[in-house]
Amino acid sequence: MGSIPVTERVTGHTELIGLIAKPIRHSMSPTMHNEAFKKLGLDYVYVVFEVDNETLEDTVKGLRAMGVRGWNVSMPNKVAITQYLDELTPAAQIIGAVNTVVNNNGVLTGTITDGTGAMKALEEAGVDYKGKIMTVFGAGGAATAIQVQAALDGVSEIRIFNRKDEFYANGEATVQKLTERTNCKVTIGDLADLDAVRASIDSSDILIDATSCGMKPIEDVTPVPDKSFLRPDLFVMDVVYAPRETKFLSWAKEVGCPHCNGMGMMLWQGAEAFKIWTGEDMPTDFIKEIIF
Ligand code: NAD
Repeated sequence: MGSIPVTERVTGHTELIGLIAKPIRHSMSPTMHNEAFKKLGLDYVYVVFEVDNETLEDTVKGLRAMGVRGWNVSMPNKVAITQYLDELTPAAQIIGAVNTVVNNNGVLTGTITDGTGAMKALEEAGVDYKGKIMTVFGAGGAATAIQVQAALDGVSEIRIFNRKDEFYANGEATVQKLTERTNCKVTIGDLADLDAVRASIDSSDILIDATSCGMKPIEDVTPVPDKSFLRPDLFVMDVVYAPRETKFLSWAKEVGCPHCNGMGMMLWQGAEAFKIWTGEDMPTDFIKEIIF
């Protein structure tokens, strides 16, 4: 907490915000939220708790009983927690997962801010995505949140590609849900079908890699085999932020694509949660100076 001693910073009035996940000690969220609380003089403290599915129900009961204002949720609890909450926002209902909970007088509402965070990051990068065509690699948690929010926010067509692993069926479910509930045209294909992937990218405005490719410890893995899949007028986003520049993003840079990494998505998902809990706008320029 910077130069303010904890005995002055934390008093009998201080409200708790939590993050429940496992493993989670590496998270940047405590720094982001605690620095923002301090900057705005808000009397909250953000603390991480190592919680998995085994201890999740008791944890939620305890947080509710203690009147804790809210908390973030990360793996492995994002899906499992939905059964212990009272209400879900529309995006959380479609996705079936939650990353933010707010406690309003004992009523627990779950929402997911990963998708809105990603869309805000695109806006900040100057991307006008309404009515545009997007190719998205991935069918896991981050990819699904982005695909659902993009469809809700007016992207006209989303082409999902994933390898034929345990996430593929989730991608198929996303296609079905978004086709039923939105006007967006959504399809899925195999990431190994490189001709289809190339054809999709060639007629897309935006390409998002929402797989774990490039993230530690698979830094050398890329979703496509080479940079010939990219062209200079394609906007490329990689949701990974550790490292800041994946091998795939370095190709986008070399080709001259406008691009962004996962830091914007991370920042804006946090800013939306911050607003839900405190009613205040996170001082995002200040937070960028600290964590980017
Ligand atoms: P997940 O486990 O739910 O999904 C993993 C996805 O990656 C699946 O689609 C899987 O098929 C794909 N994948 C894994 N290894 C692959 C490989 N070798 N080749 C091709 N595809 C592969 O994970 P998640 O929670 O969706 O996270 C995915 C990435 O997104 C992680 O790197 C995570 O750090 C990042 N993420 C970023 C933010 C952010 O705010 N920027 C938020 C959430 C997740």
